[in-house]
Amino acid sequence: MIPAPFDHITPRTLDEAIRALASHGEEAKLLAGGHSLLPMMKLRLARPKLLVDLSRIAELSGIEAERDRIFIGALTTHYRIESSELLKEKCPLLPQTARVIGDVQVRNRGTVGGSLAHADPAADMPAAMLAVGAELLARGPEGERWLKAEDFFLGLMTTALGPSEILTKIRVPVLSGHHGTAYLKVPQKASGFAIVGVAVWLRVERQLCTEIGVGVTGLDAKPFRARRVEERMKGTNLAQSLVQAASSQVTQGVSPLDDIHASAEFRAHLARVYTARAIQEAAKRAGV
Ligand SMILES: Cc1cc2nc3c(=O)[nH]c(=O)nc-3n(C[C@H](O)[C@H](O)[C@H](O)COP(=O)(O)OP(=O)(O)OC[C@H]3O[C@@H](n4cnc5c(N)ncnc54)[C@H](O)[C@@H]3O)c2cc1C
Repeated sequence: MIPAPFDHITPRTLDEAIRALASHGEEAKLLAGGHSLLPMMKLRLARPKLLVDLSRIAELSGIEAERDRIFIGALTTHYRIESSELLKEKCPLLPQTARVIGDVQVRNRGTVGGSLAHADPAADMPAAMLAVGAELLARGPEGERWLKAEDFFLGLMTTALGPSEILTKIRVPVLSGHHGTAYLKVPQKASGFAIVGVAVWLRVERQLCTEIGVGVTGLDAKPFRARRVEERMKGTNLAQSLVQAASSQVTQGVSPLDDIHASAEFRAHLARVYTARAIQEAAKRAGV
């Protein structure tokens, strides 16, 4: 449980951190909360020669509203998201998701950027980001680019970030109108990671669902947006039978994970059940 030897630097600016990444290539790794990287280093599944510690880069933390968008710094901890009054009011799906991540120590140290960049297939936050249609800002030697959450997750622990790019902030919409949100998961008992987790936000007008986002984690090797379910729900009155029928589509086109925590068949069953429950919970909160 002792990591291989490594050097550690604490740059004060993003440019300094990017230069360190670019000049050390594969040998360098960013360190945020360390709650995924350090366990991997202790198990020697990761052996970076250099840790580029982001903790002194002030511009990476914080939550700010700007017109109809909210910007969240990548280094913002799960706890700050969970306890943000701004997010509770304007994008409640994120605090609802953050508060069921791990335990209080994990939420105090773990960061939203670390969680998204790590792309663990059982992480909670990716589902919420997919459901609300978040956009992620990557900065590297070539400059900055915005990526849609849907284009960010490429596969098992793989994202669209380049080797010298840093995820710097996340942009989420203010959820306006008559809306409801819910994140429900079946947690793995020891860690709290999602065996299956489903995040939903929906907008309702005159008792009809006019917009909906459904993000799913834990089911496949990468989190995904359940477009088929969304299409089936749009324009309906969210009646239970319609929710059940739409939720049965969540496993279409995916390859459920099969591991010591749950078989593929059981995961698929959980995904259908939890998709329906999350939609119903969100609908209830929207007053339907
Ligand atoms: C006991 C335990 C229980 C947990 N339970 C849960 C749970 O229930 N649900 C859940 O979702 N998560 C859970 N986690 C994980 C936790 O949410 C971590 O916050 C998350 O995995 C990684 O965030 P971090 O800030 O610790 O990143 P780190 O461990 O510091 O980094 C993780 C990876 O992301 C890279 N990285 C970090 N920041 C950036 C950035 N800004 N740009 C680009 N790359 C970056 C690092 O180089 C590294 O490869 C748990 C962790 C532990 C130890």
